[in-house]
Amino acid sequence: MASDTSLRQEIVDRCRQMNAAGLNQGTSGNISARCGQRMLITPSAVAYDALTSEMVAAMPLAAEDGSWEGPVRPSSEWRFHLDLMRARPEIGAIVHAHAPHATALAIARKPIPAVHYMIAAFGGADIRVADYATFGTAELSRNVLAAMNGRRGCLMANHGMLAAGRSLDHAMRLAVELEALARQYVLALQIGGPVLLSDAEIARAQTAFEGYGPNAEAS
Ligand code: 13P
Ligand code: ZN
Repeated sequence: MASDTSLRQEIVDRCRQMNAAGLNQGTSGNISARCGQRMLITPSAVAYDALTSEMVAAMPLAAEDGSWEGPVRPSSEWRFHLDLMRARPEIGAIVHAHAPHATALAIARKPIPAVHYMIAAFGGADIRVADYATFGTAELSRNVLAAMNGRRGCLMANHGMLAAGRSLDHAMRLAVELEALARQYVLALQIGGPVLLSDAEIARAQTAFEGYGPNAEAS
């Protein structure tokens, strides 16, 4: 397992990468990583350029009351990060961003159907839209958990998107892929609409992912 110190620095690096890649802007978005019995999460409302590894907050996974340690309070969205990690032991990291194309679809309340085989990397044939609730609320967390059932990513109505992976690297790759899928879908809608893949084709892609990659892990 990565040390607390290296994970903190990786969170900072990933935040900067997220904004530099055009996946997010300003102090929007937040990133968390599981670290033993705790969750490390970005602080609230700190510009990523000014973010240092010591500012990353730590929250015990066993506590539901929002207890935290650190010099600055944790992200206002700690609830859905914590609730997802508590409910889904396979999740090691979560990236939440206000990515332009994913957010445009979330504003239009359009889930992403099976427009591309890469959607199978998210666990099924669609990317759902979590119902709207005010940011930082327990209601939003409940809505996110429902949309994430059996999935590694979802859109959030009139807000943004999130991706959850085994590791920070996996979660970031999924976040990049989710924004790419959203962009591809938006473009296809402009030229007559997509031809969708069948559930059987998505299942085949999922099986193929199991034998894909240098370590033959599910991508
Ligand atoms: P924080 O700065 O509190 O993480 O909030 C950003 C955000 O995206 C809220 O949804
Ligand atoms: Zn947000």
